[in-house]
Amino acid sequence: MILAVSKLKNPSSPADGYRGRFAPSPTGPLHAGSLVAALGSWLDARKNGGKWLLRIEDLDTPRCVPGAAQQIQAQLLACGLSWDEEVVYQSLRQDAYQRALQRLNELKCLYPCTCSRQTIANALASAGIQTPRNQEMIYPGTCRPINLVSNPIETLGDLKKAWRIALPQNCHVEFQDLALGPQSQNLNTEVGDFVLRRSDGLFTYQLAVVVDDAEQGITHIVRGQDLLSNTARQIYLQEVLGYKRPEYLHLPLVLDEHGEKLSKQTLATQINTQDEKHALIELRKAANHLGMKNLPDGENVTITEWLLAATHAWQS
Ligand code: GLU
Ligand code: ZN
Repeated sequence: MILAVSKLKNPSSPADGYRGRFAPSPTGPLHAGSLVAALGSWLDARKNGGKWLLRIEDLDTPRCVPGAAQQIQAQLLACGLSWDEEVVYQSLRQDAYQRALQRLNELKCLYPCTCSRQTIANALASAGIQTPRNQEMIYPGTCRPINLVSNPIETLGDLKKAWRIALPQNCHVEFQDLALGPQSQNLNTEVGDFVLRRSDGLFTYQLAVVVDDAEQGITHIVRGQDLLSNTARQIYLQEVLGYKRPEYLHLPLVLDEHGEKLSKQTLATQINTQDEKHALIELRKAANHLGMKNLPDGENVTITEWLLAATHAWQS
């Protein structure tokens, strides 16, 4: 297939070498958990002599916090985690997502869905399927037509339908995680036909992340284990869209004292980067969490020296 012309400046192909990225959602400042993902992906890129890109995932506009993107960038720089190339904002890339959606539509693997959450819950209940409270509902295929055709996709302003991918039967995805080893997921039974554009016109994370990683030529995705369960969906989309599959490495999560993932919802406190001394304390905590040992622990170590030692010590 022909890759949609990228609007990004200097899109390099994966053949240019290692290209990694950190892709925070600007729902708040960096906390201990997001710093682990930033540091792990930065170290992996630097160790491999690669590029490290920063992408702000500000698609879900209602959840974005004004000023958070700037704050995240300031925190990263205070920690010495500098990026290569221009920062990419997903909110400015709607055209690229629309093109990918159009492409999937031409391939006849999309269909419109008018189900509300309640309709889906009812359909599942009448089929005797219970969804545990904090789990995503597996879409039962209510709106899926028997014969898939290419449908006219309304413009973004049309607020009625969601667009779902029509998964083939036995859609079983297998991949190797560089840290966790072999992984697999049956998308039919564990996920169901998933949404690529929501009924409010927003493109979903699954679609955007796949399009951006491909157009930015990302070769290595290093991120938190909370995202592991999305990987099979993303690999499947890459295959349908004819993109190259990157390598994956999922890092251990930082849990709070109740064993829950740190996030804005659990009121994770932002890291303290007010000066070099405090930023280094945060970096040391993150490295400790990544299981890194024998890093310089002296009082007078600079962040630059510490990051250099950490890069040497990094083993993915
Ligand atoms: N924006 C996503 C998040 O902050 C991460 C996306 C990714 O690394 O694939 O959870
Ligand atoms: Zn539906």
